[in-house]
Amino acid sequence: MPPKPKSGILDIDLYVPGKSKVPEGVRLHKLSSNESPLGSSPAAIIAAKTATEKMEEYPDGSATALRTAIAETHGLNPDNLICGNGSDEILTLLANTYLGSGDEAIFTEHGFLIYRIATLAAGGVPVSVAEEDCKASVDNILAAVTEKTKLVFIANPNNPTGTYLPIDEMRRLQAGLPEHVVLVIDAAYAEYVRRNDYEAGLEMVSGNENVIMTRTFSKIHGLAALRIGWAYGPTHMIEALNRIRGPFNMNAAAIAAGSAAIRDRQFIDSAVAHNDTWLTKVTEGLEALGLRVTPSVSNFVLIHFPKDPARNAEAADRYLTERGYVLRRVTGYGFPNALRMSIGTEEANRGTLETLKEFLA
Ligand SMILES: *Cc1c(COP(=O)(O)O)cnc(C)c1O
Repeated sequence: MPPKPKSGILDIDLYVPGKSKVPEGVRLHKLSSNESPLGSSPAAIIAAKTATEKMEEYPDGSATALRTAIAETHGLNPDNLICGNGSDEILTLLANTYLGSGDEAIFTEHGFLIYRIATLAAGGVPVSVAEEDCKASVDNILAAVTEKTKLVFIANPNNPTGTYLPIDEMRRLQAGLPEHVVLVIDAAYAEYVRRNDYEAGLEMVSGNENVIMTRTFSKIHGLAALRIGWAYGPTHMIEALNRIRGPFNMNAAAIAAGSAAIRDRQFIDSAVAHNDTWLTKVTEGLEALGLRVTPSVSNFVLIHFPKDPARNAEAADRYLTERGYVLRRVTGYGFPNALRMSIGTEEANRGTLETLKEFLA
């Protein structure tokens, strides 16, 4: 008999990244992966280039420069930070650290697909709970907790819905969990949120022994290609994660570029301003076409299509892709008749709206 993967592995559906293929000769506008429409910070580009001029030595295994830059920017103790090869790596480390065989990890119905993958890969049992109106329900999460629960993953704001939970709901969630259950707050889109009742997770981590927040450089900082994520958590959790991560999980270019990017306030501010303007314009534009949009606080919108096979999400996706506008199908997230559109450049946003107008005409 040939080798067989351990149980759980073959239950994992392959993660399919956002497409970037359009017909030959058609200009591509990629709005399928929530990437930055403004490129990357010029300071980060220079830092990465400089780092690649000297590649024979191992990088700093503790990513000290990057942890220091993050700590200074957010007013944190660098000892409470860990960096990862994308926040995906940290989410996987969390599952491997806290889930034994048969232990349960809870996430919500339309939660980020990595939570299920990381849970199954660790030998854990994924527990998906219903949302309400495309929003995580604290009551449903708490009702799903059993003696086997070890982890709760929640993206705030969530991808692909774009909805968020206010701080009082997050506090209620933490307060309702047994002390030994880890609450993972995935705040990949935190920088985009403009709401007074939102808190990314810093305060929740500082005040509790069982909360950890993950962040990424892939979205607002426009460094998805370099794979940089980080987490802020209590010392005991950071120490546990450090034991199982690869000793050199961050490459030198990522450490250098990330350190420069997080200090580039001007770049971050322009990214927030661009998103603020276009999130509103795109949402209003889509609604003017008669499409229903889930209200988003993030850098993407979830667009719901009519049932009519000539006007549904599949037909819209085909029509848009033929013309170079690539959005994301979200069937795997439980939305067979919706597309997720990342906020892009002015040209890409306007082009998508015009193309959808033609499509629906
Ligand atoms: C994009 C995204 C991430 C970031 O992943 P990286 O591995 O850091 O690129 C994390 N969580 C959610 C919900 C995301 O959408």
